[in-house]
Amino acid sequence: MMMYIHSYRAAGPVNKLGVALPMSRDHLGGNHAVVIGASVVGLLAARVLAGHFDRVTVVERHRLPTMPPAPESGLTPPHVHALLARGAHALEQLFPGLFAELEEAGAVRLDQSSDVRAYVQGAWKDRYKSGFAIHCVSRPLLEWTLRQRLARLRNVLVLDETSVDHLLATADGRLIRGVQITRDSMPEPLIAELVVDAGGRESRLTEWLYGLGFGTVPTSSVRLDLVMASRVFQVPVPGPDWKALTIATRTPCARSGFLLPVEGDRWVASVWGYFGDHPSADPDQWMAFARTLPIPDLHEAVDDAASLGDIRVERFPGHLRRHYERMERFPEGLAVLGDAACSFSPVYGQGLTMGALELDACLKAQPKWQIAGLSQRFRHRLAAVLDVPWHLAVSADQGRQRPDPRRPAALSMVAKYTHRLLAAATHDRELNDAFLQAMNMVKPPESLFAPGTVRRVLKVGQV
Ligand SMILES: Cc1cc2nc3c(=O)[nH]c(=O)nc-3n(C[C@H](O)[C@H](O)[C@H](O)COP(=O)(O)OP(=O)(O)OC[C@H]3O[C@@H](n4cnc5c(N)ncnc54)[C@H](O)[C@@H]3O)c2cc1C
Repeated sequence: MMMYIHSYRAAGPVNKLGVALPMSRDHLGGNHAVVIGASVVGLLAARVLAGHFDRVTVVERHRLPTMPPAPESGLTPPHVHALLARGAHALEQLFPGLFAELEEAGAVRLDQSSDVRAYVQGAWKDRYKSGFAIHCVSRPLLEWTLRQRLARLRNVLVLDETSVDHLLATADGRLIRGVQITRDSMPEPLIAELVVDAGGRESRLTEWLYGLGFGTVPTSSVRLDLVMASRVFQVPVPGPDWKALTIATRTPCARSGFLLPVEGDRWVASVWGYFGDHPSADPDQWMAFARTLPIPDLHEAVDDAASLGDIRVERFPGHLRRHYERMERFPEGLAVLGDAACSFSPVYGQGLTMGALELDACLKAQPKWQIAGLSQRFRHRLAAVLDVPWHLAVSADQGRQRPDPRRPAALSMVAKYTHRLLAAATHDRELNDAFLQAMNMVKPPESLFAPGTVRRVLKVGQV
């Protein structure tokens, strides 16, 4: 069995398999936090917790690579991660020099306007130097680099090929005391003062809490039945005068696509459709799908480019939010982050930025880092961070839904306004800057509804 373990060099007892024994304040001294999931949000959480806990253990069910990702391997990266400005800033604060390191490894930094040829609402957007950067990197490279950074911390342990089976709690269920893990078919308790669930959309926390008597967790969802199929190409030489291409459509459920650069002089071209109108992993069907986007540019760009590796298909049922803040009772010693709390459509490329912002909010809610009361403070703070992006994402995608008389009318107006703003911003720098500021979360989304912006949208929209 391959095992990826780093740090804890002087950590304490391990069993004969090299697995850390149940750890508690009593056993090893100091306090201990467990993070479920070693994807990006889990790794960021571990970095934050390492500054406040004596020991942090990240538990990941999958095997983690022991070698850096090699572009020449021909494997299709799961998908590109485009990091919005605010998310990139948060990552850089936690891991100084991270983006220089990623760029050194080939990640591509783009200006979100001048380097991107974007077809939005039936028109090509004007291109100009916006000053908003976006970093495009394959997820394996991003995660590899983050794990290498964490490996330098002496108090962080990453256990891969280990699953968390359920929470451990006091008899009255009010305090979480750790997690039960299975590693190499052997169940073991892992005692901790804090458990952070960064288990992603597939998190089983709702089920575990139900089992502990906390009832059901209220959820909201918006069905999209989105399927995205991604394919990797070698960037041709000479290449086009843009670095990235996006094609968003005017018709709500029409086919869309984008093409983003990643390390290794590669493009990842993704196409997607909704409600059964889906691309597949078959190369001919993929090309045929790309040919039927509203404009032929993505198809033309890749038509003669060398294709690398297989097509990767991702299914995304829809936006999903778990409202932990609405539960009447919630145990102490537990926090939830990232897609485990709220999963947005991948089309918006905001999942990681949201995870980073949630962590930021967590830190602000914890000026003195007291474990007592953390869970309650954090779940409410998290809801405050998520509320506006959630409503905007839901309202932007509302037009894709089949008509539902129960839907609040106010959201439909937001959806109409958002569409009008996007159309007006194609040729209006001021509006496009306002949109970029909100999209990159450097200004709150409400800024798009400032009186001056609304007036401009209405005026430009009439021309
Ligand atoms: C096609 C696609 C494209 C996307 N593009 C972008 C983009 O450009 N920019 C962006 O910001 N976001 C993007 N996203 C969204 C982004 O991938 C997610 O928001 C992000 O991965 C969420 O991170 P997470 O750490 O919360 O969860 P995940 O990435 O889902 O990770 C959860 C981890 O927890 C582990 N785990 C779960 N349960 C257990 C358990 N019981 N025991 C042990 N381990 C467990 C899983 O194995 C997994 O590794 C995209 C998503 C998709 C599907």
